[in-house]
Formats: sequence, C-alpha cells, structure tokens
Amino acid sequence: MTRAKRRFWRRSGVAPGPEQRRSPESGRDAFETRAVHAGQEPDPATGAVVPPITLASTFVQDAVGDHRGYEYARSANPTRTALEVCIADLEGAAHGVAFASGMAAEDAVLRSVLRPGDHVIIPADAYGGTYRLLARVFEPAGITWSAVDHVDLDALAAAWHDDTKIVWVETPTNPLLTVVDIAAVARLAHDRGARVVVDNTFATPYLQQPLGLGADVVLHSSTKYLGGHSDVVGGAVALSDDEIAEQIAFVQNAAGAVPGPFDCYLVLRGIRTLAVRMDRHCANARAMAALLSEHPAVSRVLYPGLPGHPNHDVARSQMHDYGGMVSFTVAAGEEAAIKLVASTRVFTLAESLGAVESLIEHPAEMTHASAAGSPLAVDPALVRLSVGIENVEDLVADLRQALDAVG
Ligand SMILES: *Cc1c(COP(=O)(O)O)cnc(C)c1O
Repeated sequence: MTRAKRRFWRRSGVAPGPEQRRSPESGRDAFETRAVHAGQEPDPATGAVVPPITLASTFVQDAVGDHRGYEYARSANPTRTALEVCIADLEGAAHGVAFASGMAAEDAVLRSVLRPGDHVIIPADAYGGTYRLLARVFEPAGITWSAVDHVDLDALAAAWHDDTKIVWVETPTNPLLTVVDIAAVARLAHDRGARVVVDNTFATPYLQQPLGLGADVVLHSSTKYLGGHSDVVGGAVALSDDEIAEQIAFVQNAAGAVPGPFDCYLVLRGIRTLAVRMDRHCANARAMAALLSEHPAVSRVLYPGLPGHPNHDVARSQMHDYGGMVSFTVAAGEEAAIKLVASTRVFTLAESLGAVESLIEHPAEMTHASAAGSPLAVDPALVRLSVGIENVEDLVADLRQALDAVG
C-alpha cells in the first residue's frame, strides 16, 4: 500500500485491510489463480476452456457398473463436480458438496450430524432461515437448540448441554456485523466434543478461511458473493472430515436437494471473479463507512474495518479484509431511516446481498421483520448496505445526498 493511500485511510478513520496473504512455501497457487482454475481444467473430450454445462440426467455404462464416474445426475453431474472441486479447493478442504440453496446445505449438515435428543447452539442474531429451520423443522423432530451471543465465550460455555453436538457460527453476522473469534469458539467446542460449523457467506473464502482457524465445516449461501450477480440460488458445504463428508454426500443424494447444471455453471462463473469483486466490494464499503462515520445524520456505524468496532482486532487477525456489508443507525430514528432507504438512486432498495449492484434496506421491516417484538428485534433506525462494485464516487454522492436529506 502506498503512503498516500495509508494517509487517506488514517484520515478517513477506517483501517486498511490486512494485505492479501500469499504463501509461496505452500507450493500452491494463490487464491486468485485457484479461483480461475480449480476444477476448471479444459474439457478433455473437446478442449473447451470453460467446463461444459452437462444437462444429461443419465450416463452410458459400457457394461453393468462399468462407467466413467457418472451414472445418474442426482448422484453426480460433471458441472456440479467442477463446482464442488473448486469450492473445496478455495476453502482449503478435502471435500466440497453443492446444494440447491444455502438452506438445503444447512439442512443437510444438521441432518448429517444430529440425532434426536441432540442440542445445537446458534448465534443470538442467527440468519432468520437458520432459526426457522431449527425451530420449525428440527425441533419437532427432537432436536433442541439455544441462541447465544458467541462473542461472550462464558455465555457460550454456560449454554452447553451434555448433548451439544454443534456450535453454529456466523461471522460477520447479519445485520449487526458482529465478528466472532472462530479459533476461540473452536477450542471451546472441541474441548467439549462438539463440531463447529461456520456460515462463511458474508466473508467468502477470499476474506476468511474458517477450516484453517479450527472449524469443522464451512457453509455458503452461494446465492450471495460466490454467485455474485443476483441471478442464481445455491448453497455449498466444504470440509475435510471424511466421515461427516460421506454423511453429507449421502444426504445430498438421498434427499436430492441438488443444484441443476446451469446453476452450478453460474456459481462457478461467479467464483472466477470472486477475488477482484471482493477487492472492490471491500474498498467501496470502506469508503461508505468513512462517509457515514463523519456524517451528522448517522448516530452509529457498524463495520468491522472501523478501529472503533468492538471486535475490530479479531476481524483484523482472522480476515484478509472487512467485506462489503455496512450497517448504520440514523440519528433521527425510524421514519428518517425509512425515508433514507427510499431516496437513493444508485443503491437499489431490495433484500439479499453480495452481488455487483449496491443494495440498501431497512432490516426491521424487511429482512428481519420476523424478529419484531422478540428479543432478537432489530433497531428500527438501522439501515443495511450491501455495497456493490460500482464507481465509488457515484456511490458516495448517492449516499451523501440521501443522508443530507434526513440530517
Ligand atoms: C442467504 C443466506 C442463507 C440462506 O441461503 P439461501 O441461498 O437463501 O437458501 C444462509 N446464511 C446466510 C448468512 C445468508 O445470507
């Protein structure tokens, strides 16, 4: 990083992300190279540089049981294999398993590890779908669960049951961007014989490598940054534990929530540009955090890259950079927040996140409306940004005019 750039970040009050790491000693290509090539070697049959979209549902057998690795497309499909190999490689895992959605991936992981009577600990501000899956699908099937703030390790230990089998971690969380110390949670869980699952959707493998920090399973909604263009729904799991991987692959085939070949192709196409997109997402988000930090209409900015963020030091040590999500509270309260999210031009008012276009939303009445009235309810003055890859000056100007109108 140049001196001028460092000066800019010091002035803006937002710390620069740690420099991208590269370890030539490992003998492996760097992340950016693997994102383009892992699982994506030219097609041996035709030389096609891009993995073909194989639509066949069934594959020829030269004699009974004598085939080329593919029999029936629910069990395995070559386009899906390319995606699974790539995701495993990027997460530093031995196995990758792709699903039709992030929720299907969550369902398969829970089903593979848990038996009736088992207990799961989820974050107090877990993704709403995770909470719904446990409370409405797994609880009636005999699974118990607790929601705990994972930043508070004493509270996490206090929530332990004899039957606790999974600690389910999200970091950074949604929408408060709380950062959880993955290595500390993994030590605590492993001492007590439980597995750690990390939902790495917000950070992506480019910014955070949970398996290297001690997690057992990494999970993605590839609908978000991996796909990256708001045009595909998908999920994926990566892990190195052979036994759990076999269970998850068994559930993938037995329950059949598999992604179609075109969906796999779209996620793989997104992954090829993940590194460059994330660099721009992070740089643009840093600029939004800097603008918000100095604007009088804003009472609080939540961004792990801000030195004042309560978990900034953990973020600094376990992430390469701080991601594209920024949340903030509007000083004038709920009505002003609702007015603000409707008055941007480049930021589109919409749910979801992680794609090239910038989005703005009001969590209390949109993504987190189901938490209203519960202890998990979100501050009604909160606004969440998914900062895209547009020109940073256009984004700053757009957000500034919306803030000026309510400040
Ligand atoms: C979107 C999301 C999910 C669910 O994924 P789908 O692809 O929508 O099923 C899970 N976790 C997080 C953090 C998400 O943002």
